Amino acid sequence: MAQNSEKQNLKDLTQAEIADLISSLGKERYRAGQIMRWLYRAGSSDLAEMTTLAKDFRSTLGNIARISSLKREKTAVSRDGTKKILFRLADGHLIESVLIPGRNHWTICVSTQAGCRMGCRFCFTGKGGLKRNLLPSEITDQIIQARKVTAEGEEIKNCVLMGMGEPLDNYDNTLKAIRIMSHEAGLGFGSRRVTISTCGIVPAIRQLSSDVSVNLAVSLNAPDDETRSGLMPVNRVYPLAELLRAVRDFQMPGRRMVTFEYILIDGINSSLNDARELCRLLKNIRCKINLIILNEFPASSFRKPPLEKVQAFQKILIDNHFTAILRESRGEDIMAACGQLGGGEDINF
Ligand code: SF4
Repeated sequence: MAQNSEKQNLKDLTQAEIADLISSLGKERYRAGQIMRWLYRAGSSDLAEMTTLAKDFRSTLGNIARISSLKREKTAVSRDGTKKILFRLADGHLIESVLIPGRNHWTICVSTQAGCRMGCRFCFTGKGGLKRNLLPSEITDQIIQARKVTAEGEEIKNCVLMGMGEPLDNYDNTLKAIRIMSHEAGLGFGSRRVTISTCGIVPAIRQLSSDVSVNLAVSLNAPDDETRSGLMPVNRVYPLAELLRAVRDFQMPGRRMVTFEYILIDGINSSLNDARELCRLLKNIRCKINLIILNEFPASSFRKPPLEKVQAFQKILIDNHFTAILRESRGEDIMAACGQLGGGEDINF
């Protein structure tokens, strides 16, 4: 019998790959759908629970396959109801997910890497660099485990890949995780319910559009290359013109619009002139702009702009016929807000 570490983790496989595995054991391929439902609908972490499969087959499968589970270390609850969950990976690294309450459902923000190597200057996650990529199982399991901290009957309806890490810097594992999330026997999120957020890795944005149907959010944060390169090193490789060409070409489900995230930082990118430049830059792109007031974190020299400046910035966008939403920062008191996830190194666990 294979050692546990040598066994194939079923949660790292798509339905087609599970079908290949079980057919190599002489079992009907359609049973893969049953296994997926046990894993993702019932949340099974033990083959013995899969009672729609014959006992003998479960035992044969158990010789070559295993099921992993993330270890939930802590859950912090914010004054506004946002929950931040700290998970420990099998090798000891820590990652975080955030559950954001809506009127009658939850949105989950999941991590795709332990740490991040993109180095955005306003981001707490980026400070420690990249530790490693997450496996597909480690991405999807954040959702399975998060269901356990929501009340009976409360549904996690939307998933945003916007937690720790740059999803497109871990392309293959993220893609597989999205396929499992969107599969009807998997986590069952419709394609309109999954959003991938990127700092702007252009070739991967182009590839994604031909591989899978998801919503796209781009972390923009500046209206010109000089400011953006100063905030986000990725812009030196893929400048704005190239990025916006890829965004224009991106195919999204239905007639959904791309979302631009714009973190407002005092004295850097939040002047009225910056707002006018942004209007010029995004002219003719069907989009929605989420304005986010910087979430300050310890040891950062950046400061949030005063609210009147933020409102004046927003007004210019609206007067120029853009949908510009001032996003309420959720979970700021537990450092669960955008750019604040630190893998347990932050102070609020
Ligand atoms: Fe990485 Fe996103 Fe932070 Fe940039 S903002 S360093 S891409 S986690």
